[in-house]
Amino acid sequence: MELKEGIILKTQIYQENSKILTTISESGLSTILARGAASQKSHNYGYATEFTKIAFDVSEKGSHSFPIMTQGMIVNNFSQIKTDLPRLKDAMIIVDSVLQLGDHMDDSATLYHFLDEILSRINAEYTPYYLVIFRLKLLYLLGVGPIFSKCVNCEATTELYGFDLINGGMICSNCPHSDVTLVNHEVIESIKFLYLTKMAFLTFEVISKVPDKIMEIDNFLNAYYQHFLGYSSRAEKIIKKL
Ligand SMILES: [Zn+2]
Repeated sequence: MELKEGIILKTQIYQENSKILTTISESGLSTILARGAASQKSHNYGYATEFTKIAFDVSEKGSHSFPIMTQGMIVNNFSQIKTDLPRLKDAMIIVDSVLQLGDHMDDSATLYHFLDEILSRINAEYTPYYLVIFRLKLLYLLGVGPIFSKCVNCEATTELYGFDLINGGMICSNCPHSDVTLVNHEVIESIKFLYLTKMAFLTFEVISKVPDKIMEIDNFLNAYYQHFLGYSSRAEKIIKKL
């Protein structure tokens, strides 16, 4: 029997020694019961943890309201993420946004593979830009991607004055713009580059040449998510308090 592949995003103890796993796979988010997984003696104790990519099988039968995991094995343990604080923090913010927004996406297969790719990269070689890239490209999957190519009001492609956050795109110098318009073109160009460039070309080396505008891009993303999705990361708030 062929096993399904997925990433465990969240675990909760259930009935003393079992765990409920929230996973993501090509078919989207799902909740699975892993019997005995909270007990160290159990065969599934080792892999029923957050930030673990597994191959697994489930049984839909039984009296429980969720499927029961019948077998599983580790595909990628993401061990650097689990042991390195900067990596772990970024992975927590990424996973939190998938848990909160994942159900609003039609293309769950693309989301799954994109998440897998980002976590693999963070695990292998760390840069804070992976979090930024994830958050930027997620906007596209959520159907609220920013528009850089033309003025969102009159469609002019020249004399683009700045990025109007309220309207989600560039605004030209002949059109009225809102109070929250980003005019620093070095920041806009960095955001545009990271948003539009395909993952395959965004190698670690290419990313390291992007001007260091992490703070500005972070502020942009927070405002954008808040305005278009009414979303602010719970994980980020918790991390900031630490
Ligand atoms: Zn215009």
